[in-house]
Amino acid sequence: MAETQVIDKEEKLLIQRAYRDLLKSIHSPLDEEDRDNIRKAYELAVEAHAKQRRKSGEPYILHPIAVARICAEEVGLGPTAIVAALLHDVVEDTDVSIEDIYTRFGDRVAMIVDGLTKLDRSYDSDSPQAENFRKVLSTLVKDVRVVLIKMADRLHNMRTLGSMPRHKQLAIAAETNYIYAPLAHRLGLYNMKTELQDLCMKITDQESYQEIAKKLQETKSSRSTYIDKFIIPLKDELEEAGLTFRITGRPKSIHSIWNKIKSKEVIFEEIYDLFAVRVILDVPRRQEKQACWQVYSIVTDVYRPIPERLKDWVTTPKSNGYESLHTTVIGPDGRFVEVQIRTERMDEIAERGYAAHWKYKGVSDSPDVYENWLDNVRDLLDNHETDAIEFLNDFKTSLFNEEVYVYTPAGDMKILPKGATALDFAFMIHTDLGLRCTAIKINNRLVPMGYRLQNGDQVGVQTGKNQKPNESWLKLVVTGKARSKIRTALREERKEQSTIGKETLERKLQKLKVDLEVNADMLVKHFGFRSRLDLYSAITHDEVNLQELKKFKVDGQRLIPHLVEETPTEDALPEQPPITTFRRSSPPKLLINGEPADQYEYQLANCCNPVMGDDVFAFLSANAGMKIHRTTCPNAMNLMANYGYRVMKAEWVQAGTSSFKVDLLVTGIDTGPGVIERLSQRISSTLGLNIRSFYIDGDEGFFEGKISLIVSNKDQIVQAIQALKTLDGVSSVTRVESS
Ligand code: MN
Repeated sequence: MAETQVIDKEEKLLIQRAYRDLLKSIHSPLDEEDRDNIRKAYELAVEAHAKQRRKSGEPYILHPIAVARICAEEVGLGPTAIVAALLHDVVEDTDVSIEDIYTRFGDRVAMIVDGLTKLDRSYDSDSPQAENFRKVLSTLVKDVRVVLIKMADRLHNMRTLGSMPRHKQLAIAAETNYIYAPLAHRLGLYNMKTELQDLCMKITDQESYQEIAKKLQETKSSRSTYIDKFIIPLKDELEEAGLTFRITGRPKSIHSIWNKIKSKEVIFEEIYDLFAVRVILDVPRRQEKQACWQVYSIVTDVYRPIPERLKDWVTTPKSNGYESLHTTVIGPDGRFVEVQIRTERMDEIAERGYAAHWKYKGVSDSPDVYENWLDNVRDLLDNHETDAIEFLNDFKTSLFNEEVYVYTPAGDMKILPKGATALDFAFMIHTDLGLRCTAIKINNRLVPMGYRLQNGDQVGVQTGKNQKPNESWLKLVVTGKARSKIRTALREERKEQSTIGKETLERKLQKLKVDLEVNADMLVKHFGFRSRLDLYSAITHDEVNLQELKKFKVDGQRLIPHLVEETPTEDALPEQPPITTFRRSSPPKLLINGEPADQYEYQLANCCNPVMGDDVFAFLSANAGMKIHRTTCPNAMNLMANYGYRVMKAEWVQAGTSSFKVDLLVTGIDTGPGVIERLSQRISSTLGLNIRSFYIDGDEGFFEGKISLIVSNKDQIVQAIQALKTLDGVSSVTRVESS
């Protein structure tokens, strides 16, 4: 970008044409002042970037023009955003200052450009990705346009990534996949999300991408013949009913087809829904719902529907604004076809999301789904206690997901993220209700607190005055609010408890006539704790042998540990409980980047405990060598987004008799003392698997157990989960994603 090469005549024409195309792409009405501002912004950007070129060699100014055009054409943003988009790299890369922007374009534009500049700086600096993400979201709640322009910027960079070095491509793709694609989804920008995902896949998994693209191309003509055959009888009926409509059949994105191939473990040829048929109605706002159902009725008269596949987001829109009626029917030759029914307004919202949503907002009387969501984002941001990584995890689980609709006993509807538990619900209603929760009834039936809410559940919370949250509650919730409230309560509890331990320690030290302050940090280290708080609360719980203090030497105010006394047996303590003898029979068979993994010093990551058959990748860590993670490991995702270039391909070779450790989380209703016995009976006798450790914790009629098993592949995990689930009193069995 630093080359100083004068822009030639031909390039000048290219730039002018790009600008004219930008103006043509603006849908929103412009007044004289808007036009003036856009021209001024264009001229300033042309001048400021005059000496810069992109990696590809083309004049830099083409980039901001392209970003502005994406904002206008694909996001549907208005003049203020277009001006800001044209200027988005000016402050970061040139001599123009934010004050200049303020003087020439006013405070709105200056504020947006400033936000974009700060986002760029945080990306270039060493700050962790999670911290950057928090910054992205803080700008989101101030003015959504900052993030929308940033996404347009990212989309254009992804489209033109070709001239970047490979490792940069991977890092940018990882970040895009991790942050921007889900964010686009969340803001209802479906087209942008789809394109971002496809572009990422094209970089991270070239081979599969090209293969699917090729197959889609090869099957194109037979597909359109089929779509025509499907559509014709529908069209006739819809016209007969006097409706004004468009009907289209479009293939699904390469990324989503790839997801199906992976998750359903099928081959391309076996995927039945490679495309979706869409009926888009032109009707007045008031008749929308009725018209959509009329179309549903016609579609299902022509083709037999599969009732379970009916999804009604017309009556209850998704919280990202999406409205549509989906059904799957059995088309000609017995093939399943998804039909999406919506109106022109709904279609525009579905394609362009946020901006389109606002355009129609005035007419709508439904509660504003975006405002609702942004409030939740604000809530999460206001919680300063969580660190950035925790924040990111909370965000990913609680605000990117789809939602589930449940009811209070009074019949009020509440919306929670999909996957939310009964305990999340309690915290959502009121913090105290969550903290004091002792039992939960769903539709009048007692369930464990970690019960996953289903659409339509009616949820009643019972509380007890003396109830207090414990550490295991953190595993029973997924929403950021519940997690942070539980963490805060636990921290306070620990603080309280630690004062007791601190006083105990102080008394002991007084006897030795030494000061606590002087020796505290040394003692933390000596007893192997991470913080004073940890040491003090361990003392409260009698987990520290304070007798040892007597063996210390006293030197003035200072205690000095006797190093000679350290027993050599300490290192040799058996790490595993003696329930089974676990020994890895032979190293697991793996290929890293297609080569036998034996040549690398590698370890299976103990955060996610991958086993043979899991989808895995290798990650070269800075100081711990090569680690194998599951692709679903939350820790690893963060690593990937940060250091995409350290990721290497890893795959299992089906051979050998390796053993792997896997953790299962079992929850249920405690129906008597036999729980442990029945669980371990099922595992060892019926399944013939070895238990490595077994912890169970029960409270108020519920139990939660963590079972570590030794398995030789993923199939055994699936079998174990199936077998345990059918046991009496067991309500959930899940594999621990990370520990
Ligand atoms: Mn840019």
